[in-house]
Amino acid sequence: ETAQSSKPLTFERSAEEIRRNAQWIAGGVNSNFRMNISPTPLVFEKAEGPYLFDVDGNKLIDYYLGMGPMILGHNPQALSDAVTEQMKHGILFGGQSKVEAEAARLVCEMVPCAERMRFASSGSEADQAALRLARAATGRQIIIKFEGHYHGWFDNVLWSTAPPLDAAGPADKPVPFAGSKGQLPQSIDGLEVLPWNNLELLQQRLAKGDVAGVIMEASMCNAGAIHPAAGYLEGVREACTKAGTILIFDEVITGFRLGAGGAQAHFGVTPDLATFGKAIANGFPVAAIAGRADLLDMFVSGGVVHGGTYNSQPLAMAATVATLKSLTPELYATIDRNGTRLMEGMRAVFEKVGVKAVVTGYPQVFHVAFGIDGPAHDYRDLARSDKKAYVAFTTALLQRGVRALERGAWFMSVTHDEAVVDATLVAVEGAVAELRE
Ligand code: PLP
Repeated sequence: ETAQSSKPLTFERSAEEIRRNAQWIAGGVNSNFRMNISPTPLVFEKAEGPYLFDVDGNKLIDYYLGMGPMILGHNPQALSDAVTEQMKHGILFGGQSKVEAEAARLVCEMVPCAERMRFASSGSEADQAALRLARAATGRQIIIKFEGHYHGWFDNVLWSTAPPLDAAGPADKPVPFAGSKGQLPQSIDGLEVLPWNNLELLQQRLAKGDVAGVIMEASMCNAGAIHPAAGYLEGVREACTKAGTILIFDEVITGFRLGAGGAQAHFGVTPDLATFGKAIANGFPVAAIAGRADLLDMFVSGGVVHGGTYNSQPLAMAATVATLKSLTPELYATIDRNGTRLMEGMRAVFEKVGVKAVVTGYPQVFHVAFGIDGPAHDYRDLARSDKKAYVAFTTALLQRGVRALERGAWFMSVTHDEAVVDATLVAVEGAVAELRE
């Protein structure tokens, strides 16, 4: 049964399995970001194209896409073939392989800033490597990050990723907010938090000449699709260059998703370093750090350490090559067309039913927020949206066979075709109508 089904789908088997599994797996889930899902975290049996199939026998149109990676959709043939073939030759060499060189060459060809690169296994790790390079290259310690931006779950960056507004301090001088219990309080040392999309504040801070690096999502996509203000990225680039500060774009979501060259190609602003993950390998645990050759070469002759047993694991590299080769202009055109159809269709439904909602972002990844008047400019605007109503919406959607993230992000794949989009819009209309009742 799919979105058109009139009877609400149920998820009892999933709930039961999560309860049972919690005796072995903490909370029944292996990431905190998969907990507290309404009505329950789900357990899946298989996935194909735009669909997930859960243990209750439900077929769901999927907009989580593994939290972003699956730009080719679930289980694409080209990937299965490439990985199966690589499997015949070995799993892990503790050395180099031809396939990793091919993957690296593709990254360097596709990404504007990528003169040189290294692979890692998660976006969190790639971000750590970038910060280390920025500090080593400048001999400075301070990194600036922005409120609402997420750069992985490690102590030194898990600050002010989603602070409650009443604990966040003044908008122009955010009070750093720790994201986790057990986090070293002094891990804020060497980190400063500023509001994003405010060029003047950043310029002022950089002018002191003591900042090693600035890390940001070039367009906020993790906490909500917030566009950079006109001229902001260009201004940041200029200010960083002037101050001798390394500009790092965290492209873990935007990379290979906003286009083959990521956000930096999309906006025409080239950072010194960029990090990638997610869509780079369509679901395999691959990440990358890329950028100026002189910076990356500090791993070679600058005394900067970067390690990882699973870096450039051959199966994952085969998946990377197969993914990157699939990212054709036609693929992006298809996602552009169908993603736009979905964004516009949703806007039309909200307008028709009289729901105050904004749909922002890009056809490849967009964001829906309830109860705010216009597109958000920064984290605080978005934090004022009606999250409770939005969770009620995604819950109602799920019961109609559409799985969308509770925090408002919608990821598109090339397999979400017109028919899938139209089925989604039927579900959206039904869900909104139910909430109005
Ligand atoms: N940076 C951004 C912008 C992300 O969205 C994420 C993950 O959601 C990360 C970094 C961390 O990547 P990973 O979960 O692979 O460690």
